[in-house]
Amino acid sequence: MNAPASPPDLSHLWMPFTANRQFKSQPRLLARAEGMYYTSTDGRQILDGTAGLWCVNAGHCRPEIVQAIASQAGEMDYAPGFQLGHPLAFEAATAVASFMPAGIDRVFFTNSGSESVDTALKIALAYHRARGDAQRTRLVGRERGYHGVGFGGISVGGISANRKTFSGALLPAVDHLPHTHSLEHNAFSKGQPAWGEHLADELERIVALHDASTIAAVIVEPMAGSTGVLVPPKGYLQRLREITARHGILLIFDEVITAYGRLGSPTAAEHFGVTPDIITMAKGVSNAAVPAGAVAVKREVHDAIVNGVQGGIEFFHGYTYSAHPLAAAAILATLGIYRRDDLFGRARDLSPAFEKAAHALQGAPHVIDVRNIGLVAGIELASRPDAPGARAAEAFRKCFDSGLMVRYTGDILAVSPPLIIDEAQIGELFEGIGKVLKEIA
Ligand code: PLP
Repeated sequence: MNAPASPPDLSHLWMPFTANRQFKSQPRLLARAEGMYYTSTDGRQILDGTAGLWCVNAGHCRPEIVQAIASQAGEMDYAPGFQLGHPLAFEAATAVASFMPAGIDRVFFTNSGSESVDTALKIALAYHRARGDAQRTRLVGRERGYHGVGFGGISVGGISANRKTFSGALLPAVDHLPHTHSLEHNAFSKGQPAWGEHLADELERIVALHDASTIAAVIVEPMAGSTGVLVPPKGYLQRLREITARHGILLIFDEVITAYGRLGSPTAAEHFGVTPDIITMAKGVSNAAVPAGAVAVKREVHDAIVNGVQGGIEFFHGYTYSAHPLAAAAILATLGIYRRDDLFGRARDLSPAFEKAAHALQGAPHVIDVRNIGLVAGIELASRPDAPGARAAEAFRKCFDSGLMVRYTGDILAVSPPLIIDEAQIGELFEGIGKVLKEIA
């Protein structure tokens, strides 16, 4: 399809997480995508440095996925998932389970990361209740955590802009661990930073305050993506696991970004060698070709709920579109590609070149930190006095104008390309960012 001759009416669409007025005065519209590239409506090629929104891990418009969705749409467009099923849903769950750490093999489908998070929090409460521990209702999140936009997710999340408007309606019993970001100790770390393991001990303080018998779960992103690529300090996740296990608290890893190869492994849990009780996912599970998400649960947790009820529905939760046939088809095709093409191995093999190219920005104008792991990097810029975020926003716009898609949050640029990227494109990406940084004040 050719680019439309005249731009569409932009007034009706209320855009998510967007400065609507500013965007509509200077729109950036995408028309097509293939492999590593988007094409804008004005016909420019844009190298995708962000896998869309951290989700198109296998690259754009993979024919196998397109075909699977198209043929499923013609075969059976929709099937109810309550008290009815369809074979693809079960196959998709089996396929998801095969990518999870051993023992985490019961799968509940959702349509997004936000729904996965709220589902996981509900599973944690239901688990304790089923075991006669109904007083375990407190949830623990982390500062600078992003867990989507449901009321559960923003309550355990740690981004004040996402919380303040809704502060009167957040979940009542939530505490937050401190975040692990420290430029003072960890600037320009490659891989996991050395400093910060002790921050996990803050959980002991929360336990001492409320008593473990009141705490249901701790939820963290094993690597915090949305607030600027915060790589967990060495030993930190292990310590969280040890403390949660000792106190009977469930540990939830929100792997909406990290699952499916971002770090070079199927999950961050496997990458870091730490097995939580519940893993949330979305994005890469379907290569974002159809909205899809899932929660993978330890068998004991599932069994406590499903076997803990006399009869009837065991868990009063679900979505009209849980395991939608198109999503199930996309998931199966996507996971097939990951396995066949060994894309996670590719991410692992490329990560040294990616790290080198990212860290070549040390010394570039405005750069106060570069951090990386797998195929993700954060480039933190000094903020302009009185205008936090403005410098990265300008860098983002200039990158886009020069044919590179990056992301920004505050004054941090994030780079997380599809795992099919090659070394030349990695060079193009970081050199392009370096060029833009020289052009902006
Ligand atoms: N959890 C994490 C860790 C995320 O990064 C995101 C989105 O970026 C979400 C949850 C929310 O996902 P969604 O936007 O699909 O609701």
